[in-house]
Amino acid sequence: MQVTSGPDRGQKESLGITVRKKDDLSEWYTQTVLKAELADYSSSGKGFMVIRPNGYEIWELIRDFFDSEIKKTGHRNAYFPTLIPKSLLEKESEHFAGFNPEVFWVSKAGADELADPLAVRPTSETIIHDAIRNWIRSWRDLPLLLNVWNSVLRAEIKSTKPFLRSTEFLWQEGHTSHSTEEEAAKEVMDILILYKRIMEELAAFPVLIGKKSDREKFVGAVYTTTLEAMMPDGKALQMGTSHQLGQNFSKPFEIRFLGENGEMRYVWQTSWGTSWRIIGSLVMIHGDDKGLVVPPRLAPVQVVIIPILFSKKGSAEKVLQRCSEIQGVLQKTGVRAQIDSRENYTPGWKFNEWEMKGVPLRIELGPRDLEKDVVVFVRRDNGSKTILPVGEASAGAVELLSQIQENLWSKAKEQFESSIHDVSSYAELVGVIERTGGFVRSFWCGSPKCEIDVKEKTGADIRAIPFDQPDNVGESKCIVCGEPAKNLVYFARAY
Ligand SMILES: [Zn+2]
Repeated sequence: MQVTSGPDRGQKESLGITVRKKDDLSEWYTQTVLKAELADYSSSGKGFMVIRPNGYEIWELIRDFFDSEIKKTGHRNAYFPTLIPKSLLEKESEHFAGFNPEVFWVSKAGADELADPLAVRPTSETIIHDAIRNWIRSWRDLPLLLNVWNSVLRAEIKSTKPFLRSTEFLWQEGHTSHSTEEEAAKEVMDILILYKRIMEELAAFPVLIGKKSDREKFVGAVYTTTLEAMMPDGKALQMGTSHQLGQNFSKPFEIRFLGENGEMRYVWQTSWGTSWRIIGSLVMIHGDDKGLVVPPRLAPVQVVIIPILFSKKGSAEKVLQRCSEIQGVLQKTGVRAQIDSRENYTPGWKFNEWEMKGVPLRIELGPRDLEKDVVVFVRRDNGSKTILPVGEASAGAVELLSQIQENLWSKAKEQFESSIHDVSSYAELVGVIERTGGFVRSFWCGSPKCEIDVKEKTGADIRAIPFDQPDNVGESKCIVCGEPAKNLVYFARAY
């Protein structure tokens, strides 16, 4: 996997995508992200990226949905500092040890060495817990449901890729405190299901949900729940996690409350996050050889209206007038519509450009359509044309957008399901991971030794232990050691 670096890319500058998705997914992905103008490289150095408006607006749509949903259940947004004193980060030692290799440090302020160096947040558990200790006094202050929209920095040693793996990334981190373990456990699941809705209903791709093994869980968590998507090259991608922290942080940070019975108790906590990786995944999953395909619900522009002006002189004004009327009608219905009236480009050139940018639906409108009082819709996902009377433009657009969303979902679901393999021997597991990738579903005894063995032989790890376990787990054997199984699990290589 080679990332096209800044200086190289000028040489292969060309309008369309120059490789086929199935021939070289990595290069296809990088070209799509750059040419659809989602992101650009940054001169800040390796691992950093610039998000352009086309990419940022997708993030805003994800953010707006999630933000409004969590607010319905009483969560509130806050903001905490970027820099965390080392002494604070060390308070929960296991957590600190887990993040230490990825942490950037600020050791100077101007010319002066800092006595207590500052860490650039890799995540904000410590600084948030230190603050809320003073906010929670009694059971009346609970639950405390906080969310933060920010960026975090983790030094990336592996190769970086826009949206999928970068040193600095945008995400949200939720941090909640509860009076009981059960309430915290429910919060963990509620958020996981909400994340699942973003992937399925907005980004239109399926995910596997379940728990992480102890080896793979978040450092400092009692347990971690996860959402795992499958990329076209057979590698899994973790889309979000929701953690039960138990009292692992409330004890070292002394976050206690006075219970209804007058007793001082430690709070139960959760944390959870999802990032702009969702954008990377939807590029990978839905894109094609022409470029990006954005699911309508996450498309900053859902319908682009392209006037056909060159065929009959004198009709241009009327065509543009009609385009503008249609845009107005669409916008009234809540459809995000834009007119491309640039004069120095041909309609054909514009078609290609908007296809590369993944706009779900295009309207072509020329003098002949004007005479017939019709609009021509062209779908990005399958290229099909629909001709409708002008009066039905807005209802037609809504219907077509919903069909596109549904079609992308069905195709992604089919791909996802075909990526799951059941195997009956360890040799078969190794073979599948090496040949095709995807998820390998098999039984596991629960021992880290077997988990590590698979990792060392194939590079695959346990992506998730599904919540719903089959009835025959008891009679089944571990795929690695043959001992009685504890769980059915999904192995895969991952990004
Ligand atoms: Zn085993």
